[in-house]
Amino acid sequence: MTTKIFKIDPERIAPQAIAEAAEILRAGGLVAFPTETVYGLGGDATDAQAAQKIYAAKGRPSDNPLIIHVASPEEAERYAVTNETYRRLADAFMPGPLTVILPKRESIPSAVTGGLDSVAVRCPSHPIARALIREAGVAIAAPSANLSGSPSPSCGDHVIRDLSGRIDGIIDGGDCEIGLESTIVKLDGAHATLLRPGAITADALACVCESVAVAPAVTEGLAQNERPLSPGMKYKHYAPKAPLVLLEGDADEVLSFLYRAQNAEKCTILCYSEETEYLRGERLIDVGAREDLVTQAHTLFAALRKADELDGDIIYAHLPPTDGLGLALYNRLIRAAAHTVLRVKSSLKG
Ligand code: AMP
Ligand code: MG
Repeated sequence: MTTKIFKIDPERIAPQAIAEAAEILRAGGLVAFPTETVYGLGGDATDAQAAQKIYAAKGRPSDNPLIIHVASPEEAERYAVTNETYRRLADAFMPGPLTVILPKRESIPSAVTGGLDSVAVRCPSHPIARALIREAGVAIAAPSANLSGSPSPSCGDHVIRDLSGRIDGIIDGGDCEIGLESTIVKLDGAHATLLRPGAITADALACVCESVAVAPAVTEGLAQNERPLSPGMKYKHYAPKAPLVLLEGDADEVLSFLYRAQNAEKCTILCYSEETEYLRGERLIDVGAREDLVTQAHTLFAALRKADELDGDIIYAHLPPTDGLGLALYNRLIRAAAHTVLRVKSSLKG
C-alpha cells in the first residue's frame, strides 16, 4: 500500500489536504494525524472494519480498546452517556489532553471498545486534529500511531518510520507539544480513578472531582491474575532493546555513578542538561533540565527511540518524581524499565 504523506503547518492549515484526509476516513481508510499529546492512528469510530484495520496496522491485540476523538466536548453525547462530572471536567480541561471513560452508546461498535460496554472519549486541542475530525463529520477512533511495541510517536518522522506502507495517509504536522499520551480517568459519580497519568495531573483533576484515586497499576506491576481496570495495563509495554535501569539517589552521587559507568561499560545515558558538561558526549541524550518536567515529557519518547539507535549494552535514566507531571514520566519509564530501579549510594559512606 502507498501511504500518502500530507505535510501540514498547524499554523496555516491547508483546507484541501484536510478535506482529502477526511475523505479517506469517511471511505473507511486510515490516516495518522498529530494531536497535542502524541500522533494518533485514525479511523471512523462508527465503523467496525476500520477498527479492525487499525489493530492490524499496529499489530495491536483487538481486545485493547481505542480512544475515540470528538470535535467538541458536547459531541461525546452522540457516542457515550455523559454525566455531570464529565461536563465539569470538559469545562475545565477540554479541548485538551484528557480522556474520560463513559458508558458507550450503540453508535460505537464493540470492535472499537474491545467488547467493553464503556468507551474512552477525548477532545483534542491540536488544530489539525480538530479540523480533521470536524471535516470527517464523525468521531475518529485513534490509538497512538506507533507499531505495537515501539514508543508512542511524538513527531511525524516516528509515524512515517513505523507505519509507512501500512496505512492510507499520514498527516505530518511536526512535533507534538506535550509528547506523552493523554491522562485517562474512569468516573464513578464524582469520584475519579486515574488509569493513565498525563499532562492533566491528579492534582488538577482533584480541583473538579470529589476524589481522585490513582490505579495501583500506574506505579506498580499488575499482580498475577489481577484483572486490570484498563485492558492496556495488562500488555507488555514498550521496552528498549537494551535493559533500562532507573537511578535513584542524591544528585551528586548519581552523577558520579554515571561518570564511572561511562568508563566501565558501553552505556547509553538519558541525562539532565546540567549533567552534560560532566559526562562524555558518546551515547549521551539530554532530556532537559532536572526541574523542567515539561521538556522531559516532550523529549522522552524521542530519547527512547534514539537510545535504541545508539545501541549501548545498558541504558541509564533518572527515576522521575511521582508528583505532578512526574507521575506520567514515572509511569512510562518504570514500565519501559520493567520496574528496575537502582538506588545509588555513596561509595564514601560505606
Ligand atoms: P492508546 O490508544 O495507545 O493511547 O491507548 C489507549 C488506552 O486506553 C489503552 O491502555 C486502553 O486500554 C485504554 N482504554 C480505552 N478504552 C477503554 C475503556 N473503555 N476502558 C478502560 N480503558 C480503556
Ligand atoms: Mg499506545
